[in-house]
Amino acid sequence: MLIDGNWMTPDEPGFDVINPADGKVLEQVPNGGREAAKQAIAAAAQALKAWSKTTPYERSDILRKAHALMLERKEDLARTMTLEQGKPLRAALNEVQYGADFLSWFAEEAKRIYGETIPSARGDQRFIVSHQPVGVVAAVTPWNYPVSMITRKVGPALAAGCTVVLKPAEATPLCAIKVFECLVDAGLPPGVINLVTALDPAPIGDEFVSNPSVRKLTFTGSTAVGKMLAGQAAANMKRVSCELGGHAPFLVFEDADAVHAAKGAQMVKFLNTGQACISPNRMLVHKNLVAPFTEIMVDRVRKLKAGSGLEEGVAIGPLVNQTAIEKVDNQVRDAVARGATLHCGGHRLTDAGLDTGFFYAPTVLSGVTEDMLIYREETFGPVAAIIEFDEEERALEMANDTEYGLAAYIYTRDIGRAFRIFEGLNFGIIGINDINPTSAAAPFGGMKDSGLGREGSREGIMEYLETKLGGIAI
Ligand code: NAD
Repeated sequence: MLIDGNWMTPDEPGFDVINPADGKVLEQVPNGGREAAKQAIAAAAQALKAWSKTTPYERSDILRKAHALMLERKEDLARTMTLEQGKPLRAALNEVQYGADFLSWFAEEAKRIYGETIPSARGDQRFIVSHQPVGVVAAVTPWNYPVSMITRKVGPALAAGCTVVLKPAEATPLCAIKVFECLVDAGLPPGVINLVTALDPAPIGDEFVSNPSVRKLTFTGSTAVGKMLAGQAAANMKRVSCELGGHAPFLVFEDADAVHAAKGAQMVKFLNTGQACISPNRMLVHKNLVAPFTEIMVDRVRKLKAGSGLEEGVAIGPLVNQTAIEKVDNQVRDAVARGATLHCGGHRLTDAGLDTGFFYAPTVLSGVTEDMLIYREETFGPVAAIIEFDEEERALEMANDTEYGLAAYIYTRDIGRAFRIFEGLNFGIIGINDINPTSAAAPFGGMKDSGLGREGSREGIMEYLETKLGGIAI
C-alpha cells in the first residue's frame, strides 16, 4: 500500500496473490481495511491543497515522465500482468502500451482545460466560466485489465488537479503497485496518489462513499457492485462515474464478407479469454452466412492453444478463478440442454499442466436462442454464441434487447445499412467492420446498465472537473 508517500509492507499477514495459470501463490500484499482507507483519504485531502494549485504544465511534465517510465518498464509490467492475471505476454505488452497512452493523452489534455465567456443580456454584466478540480477522487478498478483501467482514471484525475485513493482488484494488486511506482518515480508529491490493497473490498467501498473528503467516485467493475456504490455515493452527493458490464452483439449482415467477419469475431471474442467488458456475447449472423461463418470460427477456435501466458504460441490464458469457470460452464450446459449445438470445447481443461489452473476450453455454440442464459447474461469467458437472423430490423431489435449498452460490432459492406444500424444501436462504442474501436483519444463508456460517464478522449477529463461561473457587474 502507498499512503502519504510511504510504501507499507504487511505487519500482519497480508493476502495471497495467486497465479491463475497454476494456482500457486506469487506474493503477499498488505490487507488494508477501513482505517487504511481513512488515512489514505486524509493524505489525499491534505495533498490536494498544493496539487490543485500546480500549473497544468507542471502536472503534464510529471504525467509525461510517468508515461516514459511505464514504457521503460514495459517488459516487467507485462510479465507481472501475465503472472497474476493470466493473459498471454504479447497481449499484456499491448495493454501496458494502451495503459501508458492514457498518461500521455491526459498530459496534453491538462493544458486544454479551457473556460469560456458568455454574452449577457445586461450591458453592465460579463459572464466567465472556468473549471476547477473536483477534489479527492476514490477509484475502484477490476482485474481483467489491471494496468490500463488504473491509468484511464488516474491520468485524467491528476491532469485535472485532483488527488487520488485507489483500490485495485484483490486478484491483481501487483500490477497496481508497479503502475504506482512509475507515478511516484515520476515525481508526484506524497499524498497525491494513494493505493489501498485489500482482500475484502466492502469496508473500503463503504469509506469511499461516506467519507466527506471524497468528492468523486470512479468505478469499473460489475453492474451489481457499480449500482450499489453509485447509489450510496449519490446519497452523499458525490460525483460518480461507472464503467460496468456489457453484452456486446456482433452483427454480421447478408452482404458482409463472411471470412473477414468470422476472423474478426474469433479474434475479439477470445481476446483475454473472453474476459473483456466489450467482448461479443452474441454473434447475430444472417441465415445465409451462418454456415460459412460457423465453419471458419470453429476451424480457428480449434487451433487456439491454452496454457500459461509466458509460453510461446499460447492464445488462451486461464479464467480468473473457480467461480468464473462455473459461471461459463453453467451457461454452456444450459444452452446445450435447450437445444444449442456444441461445435467444440464445452468443458474445463484438465490436461497435464493445466489441471491446477482455471482453464476452460475455447467453445463455439450455434443455434442459440432467446430462452438461453447466454443470450442475456454476460459470459466473461471463451464462448462464442452464434444466433441466426433473417431481417435487418429483427437483428437490430435482438441486438438492443439487453439491459446493457457498452459495445456493439457491425459487419456489412452497405454504407447505408452501416449508418442505419449505427444510429439504431443503443450502445456507447460501435465497431463497424472493425474489432478494436478503442483508443486513449476516443470516448469509452456505456449506456443503460453499462455505466455513467466516459473515460479517455477530451471528455474523460471533464469527469474530474467542476464548472464555476463568475457573473461580474462592470
Ligand atoms: P467486481 O464488481 O466484482 O469487482 C470490481 C472491483 O470492485 C474490484 O476492485 C472489487 O474489489 C471491487 N468491489 C467489489 N465489491 C465491492 C464493494 N462492496 N465495495 C467496493 N469495491 C468493491 O467485478 P469483477 O468481476 O472484478 O470485474 C468484471 C466486471 O467488470 C465485468 O462485469 C466487466 O464487464 C466489468 N468491466 C467493465 C469495464 C468497462 O470499462 N466498462 C472494464 C473492465 C471490466
